[in-house]
Amino acid sequence: MPRILDGNRVRDDIKNELKPRVAALLDKGRPPGLAVVLVGNHPASAIYVRNKIKTCHDLGIYSESITPPDTITTDELLAIVDNLNRREDIDGILVQLPLPPQVDTKRILLAVSPEKDVDGFHPFNVGALVANLPAPRACTPAGIIELLKRHEIPIAGRKAVVVGRSDIVGKPVAMLLLHRNATVTICHSKTPDLPAVCREADILVAAIGRAAMITGDFIKPGAAVVDVGTNHIDNREQAARIFRNSPEKMAAFDKKGSVLVGDVDPFDVVEKAGAYSPVPGGVGPLTIAMLMVNTVASAERRLPVRSVC
Ligand code: NAP
Repeated sequence: MPRILDGNRVRDDIKNELKPRVAALLDKGRPPGLAVVLVGNHPASAIYVRNKIKTCHDLGIYSESITPPDTITTDELLAIVDNLNRREDIDGILVQLPLPPQVDTKRILLAVSPEKDVDGFHPFNVGALVANLPAPRACTPAGIIELLKRHEIPIAGRKAVVVGRSDIVGKPVAMLLLHRNATVTICHSKTPDLPAVCREADILVAAIGRAAMITGDFIKPGAAVVDVGTNHIDNREQAARIFRNSPEKMAAFDKKGSVLVGDVDPFDVVEKAGAYSPVPGGVGPLTIAMLMVNTVASAERRLPVRSVC
């Protein structure tokens, strides 16, 4: 049986490690502070934001959610971001995407102060990532590295293949693997003979957004497979096919009317991989944990500076 890369355990470890750091900041005068801007009424985004706020609460991090209506203009949202940039008690600013069509998303993300950009999406921080300089790293990619590191999956000298080249997962995780001395290949929808390229991988990261696309013929025997995909399947036939009619999974499907599936075939990976991250319970739990790490690290950078001034 392959090893399971257990994201829930790593998330709990990371949270426990943050607690004394939050306490030390409190001793210096205040808790770390995170502001989340959630525009309009987006049920999925609202759940993400609620989970982020709850995790802040668990850790003693101050959090604030700002919820302007979806009729907001770019200028009005820029004013909100500007105010947060100036606030002493806010160390991290997160603007939940997607934004409504009338808002210029690029301008908003550019307006967030790079030092408070706990998502790691600001071009300044993307540049720092490429140059391997300290700066907030995008949360999901940073979580993937923690998952590998804390399960002692060797990265240096290994061949890593990343399927997906998005700015939020594929590209940054490829860069992080490269900085840890993996030999990295980035694949996408135009890559010829994708299974053959993937079969070269000692570490295979799937960040595609296509349910169970990575089947056994993509996986080198013994490889570490990281499944980033979160696909909600509401077609019963498709779910039955992916889960080979597993009574347990189908009962869960019938109860909810949908099921969460990764980008990797959940049965093939067990047969072929040496280690794999399950969905759910793999990469997912680490995204919020790394957001907390970025917020605490930002507060640690900002608090000592102020006490000197
Ligand atoms: P995205 O922006 O849609 O990018 C998907 C990438 O996959 C693109 O680069 C695309 O190639 C590539 N791709 C699509 N179909 C392909 C195919 N048939 N063969 C090869 N490559 C293909 O998605 P994303 O934002 O990176 O997210 C990827 C998945 O991760 C989604 O399921 C998302 O929900 C999940 N996710 C999970 C977390 C978490 O916390 N667990 C966080 C973020 C994302 P092209 O560039 O050529 O179009």
